[in-house]
Amino acid sequence: MTLVNSNYLKLPGSYLFSEIARRVAAFSAENPDAQIIRMGIGDVTRPLPQAVINAMCEAAREQGAPEGFKGYGPDHGYMFLRELIAEHDFAARGVKVDPDEIFISDGAKCDVGNFQEIFAQDNTIAITDPVYPVYVDSNVMAGRGGELQPNGEWSNFIYLPCTAENNFEPALPQRRPDLIYLCYPNNPTGTTLTRDQLARWVEYARENKSVILFDAAYEVFISEPDVPHSIYEIPGADEVAVEFRSFSKTAGFTGLRCAYTVVPHKLTAKSPNGEDTPLNPLWARRMSTKYNGCPYVVQKAAAAIYSPEGRKQVLENVAYYMNNAKIIRDALKNAGHTLFGGVNAPYVWLKTPDNMLSWDFFDLMLNKYNIVGTPGAGFGPSGEGYFRLTAFGSMENTKAAMQRLLK
Ligand SMILES: *Cc1c(COP(=O)(O)O)cnc(C)c1O
Repeated sequence: MTLVNSNYLKLPGSYLFSEIARRVAAFSAENPDAQIIRMGIGDVTRPLPQAVINAMCEAAREQGAPEGFKGYGPDHGYMFLRELIAEHDFAARGVKVDPDEIFISDGAKCDVGNFQEIFAQDNTIAITDPVYPVYVDSNVMAGRGGELQPNGEWSNFIYLPCTAENNFEPALPQRRPDLIYLCYPNNPTGTTLTRDQLARWVEYARENKSVILFDAAYEVFISEPDVPHSIYEIPGADEVAVEFRSFSKTAGFTGLRCAYTVVPHKLTAKSPNGEDTPLNPLWARRMSTKYNGCPYVVQKAAAAIYSPEGRKQVLENVAYYMNNAKIIRDALKNAGHTLFGGVNAPYVWLKTPDNMLSWDFFDLMLNKYNIVGTPGAGFGPSGEGYFRLTAFGSMENTKAAMQRLLK
C-alpha cells in the first residue's frame, strides 16, 4: 500500500483567499456595476525599477555569447550578489555578516517553509498569533503540529498572541520552545518591535537555547529610527538567529523571485549526543542537495538594486506605497477607527468596530463600500476582530476607497 504523508491530511483547506474570492465573485455577479477596490492581497503592483530591467537585459545578452554563457551557478548564489548584500544590508548598519553566511534563493516563502527540515521532528514551535501561515503549515506538514483544535490552535504549537491589549508585543513563552518564528515588520499586523523589545527575545533565546527564525521580508519599509532592520543589530543574535530577507516586497520581485537567508557560522543546535552542531553547513547541504540556484539573470537584477540609481528607484516605490499607507491611516482615523501598523510596513491592521467578527466586517466592507480587505481571523485565532488593508494598490484606488469610507 502506498501511503501519503498523513500530516498533509490534517491541514485545513487554504480557506482564506479562496473564501474571499468566492464572496467577491458572488457579490460581483449580483452587482455587476460595482467598482470593487481590492486591498486584500499582499502583492506589489508597481513595475520593476529601470535599473533592474537594464541589468536583466544585459545579463540576458551576456548569456547569448559563448564567453558570457552561464550554466549552473554556484550552489549558494553568485559571490557578486552575496558580497553586495553583506556590504549594503549589513556592514552599512554596523553588522558583520560574512558572504559565506548568505544563501541566495528564489524566495523567502520557500526558505522559511524549508528551514524547519534541518531540525529534529520533535522540536517545539512557537509562533506569534496572528501569523504568516507558512510557518504553521510547513511545521504541520513535517509532523510538529499535533492536532487542530476547535479554537483554531494546533495542540503542539506555542501561540504568542499579539493584540491591541499587549500593543502587539508578544509575551515571552510560558514553556520553552525550540524554534521561535518572529516576523518584523509584521505581516499581517504591520506592527514592529523596537530594539529593546527585540533584544528581550534574543536574550530569551540565548538563555533558553532556542533558535529564532526571523523573517525580515518588510525591512525596507521601516521608517522609525528605533526599529532594528536586522536581528543581528542586537549583540549576540548571531548565536541564536537565522534571518530571512526577500527582494519581493523590497524591489517588486514577487514575480521575478529572489531572496536570501542568513545562517551565521556561530549559530548552533544540539546533535542527539549533545554536541553543538553548526547550522550553516546543514543548510548548505540541504540547499546543495535540493536546489540548483536562482537564475543568473535574476541575481544580476537583484544586484542592480544596490547601485545608486537602483536604490533610488526602489525607495521611490517604497515611498509610493507608504504614502498609500498614510492615506489609509488618515482616512480610517478620521472615520473614527482604531488602527495599527502602516508606519513601518505596508499593512494597516484595523480593529473592527463594536467587536464585529472579521468576516462580518469583510461582508460589510464589500457590500457597503465595495472594498475588499482580509479578515484578521484568517491569520490565526488572535486575528479575530481585526481586518487587514494593504498599501500595495495604486494611489488612485487607495484614495477612492478611502473617500467611500469617509462619505
Ligand atoms: C511576502 C512575504 C515573504 C516573501 O516571500 P517571497 O517568497 O520571497 O516572495 C516572506 N515572508 C512574509 C511574511 C511575507 O509576507
